[in-house]
Amino acid sequence: MNEHGKSKIMKKIGKYSFGIGDRFAHQGVAQLRALMKAQAAGIEVTPVWNKSNREHMYVHSHPADTRKEADSAVAELGYRGDYCVDADHINLGNVQNFLATSDFFTIDVASKIGSASGETETTAFLSSCQAYLGALQIPGIAHPFEVDEALLTKIAGKFLAAIREAGLIYRHIVSEKGNDDFVTEISMDEVESPQSPVEMFFILKMIANEHIPAQTIAPKFTGRFNKGVDYVGDVAAFAREFEEDIHVIDFAIREFGLPVSLKLSVHSGSDKFSIYPEIQRILAQFDKGIHVKTAGTTWLEEVIGLALSGGDALAAAKSIYIQALSRQQELCAPYADVIDIDGTKLPDAEEVNSWSGEKFANTLRHIPGHPDYNPNLRQLIHVGYKIASEMGTHYTDLLKTNQKTVGACVEENLFERHLKRLFHI
Ligand SMILES: [Zn+2]
Repeated sequence: MNEHGKSKIMKKIGKYSFGIGDRFAHQGVAQLRALMKAQAAGIEVTPVWNKSNREHMYVHSHPADTRKEADSAVAELGYRGDYCVDADHINLGNVQNFLATSDFFTIDVASKIGSASGETETTAFLSSCQAYLGALQIPGIAHPFEVDEALLTKIAGKFLAAIREAGLIYRHIVSEKGNDDFVTEISMDEVESPQSPVEMFFILKMIANEHIPAQTIAPKFTGRFNKGVDYVGDVAAFAREFEEDIHVIDFAIREFGLPVSLKLSVHSGSDKFSIYPEIQRILAQFDKGIHVKTAGTTWLEEVIGLALSGGDALAAAKSIYIQALSRQQELCAPYADVIDIDGTKLPDAEEVNSWSGEKFANTLRHIPGHPDYNPNLRQLIHVGYKIASEMGTHYTDLLKTNQKTVGACVEENLFERHLKRLFHI
């Protein structure tokens, strides 16, 4: 494993990195401007343009479009730092289209959690863990974990098949690309139950056994990470878990020879403002890095920017919501586990049609405590990007015509509401 961690050619991710999704690939410059503002304030945050296969399918785009967007934003702004293009949540079945243009791969093995492993593989894993039987003391964590064969067998039953699959995918990417000059993330966040810190430790052992030089790992954390809205759950419990995960990763790097750049990745589903101060505090206390992946927050700012632009653009923003209202079931189904919409709190078409652009923007914009803010409407529009995609060039032409207002919204959101809070700028 050490030879991977010290590999000269493997692309190394910076200490802080920030995942920016952009469904229609028109906001790359505005997004990069926000990250360069952080850089000017003294915090180097690597931009990572991420887009999943599902998003590409809904908007009929290709991973090469994301690469083009990133490269041209970088050229236009004369940005000189590192940046990545993330093949987000890929698996063996859909990685192919991403191979040529991505240099960050989020290998998603959530669907393999709980799949059976062969007896030989399980035995091999158990015997690789003999040194950790008994009271496992991880530096930084007050109480030791009690590890016995039963616990290891249970963890193997849950995760071994998933990480073996990750190994297959990783090796497939290396063989297709002909090198390992990319960042590897392992994600298992899109599941119901969180992985505990002790599970995380043995998952990292499995990753090391598979010789995957993972640099970011995205567990499912305690609490709900609904799309586009704030964290729902026990912030103190999240903070405890997050801190323990950080100590586990530190220890695993030393014990298993994983890359020293390995860090946590928080798939925020966007806008988890109430946990940002805790993340920031813990990172500062232990001098650790992080990857935070957002996706839909930029799309929502596009709609806000269009609403504020008035005229045809406001009409399009209203139309997206009103169509989404009548297609709720269809739009929400693929996101059922990650949204919580109270249908009784959704304004009807007539009401929304009477709104000014300002009122529409205030209702959609995520300012917790703002009297107009409506998280139900926000979540519905979050999953409604398919409607904008169906509008085709009508939608993208409006983005172009109103780019000044839209881009300003995108930039302000990322810098003022995300980066400033996360990195204490
Ligand atoms: Zn995710």
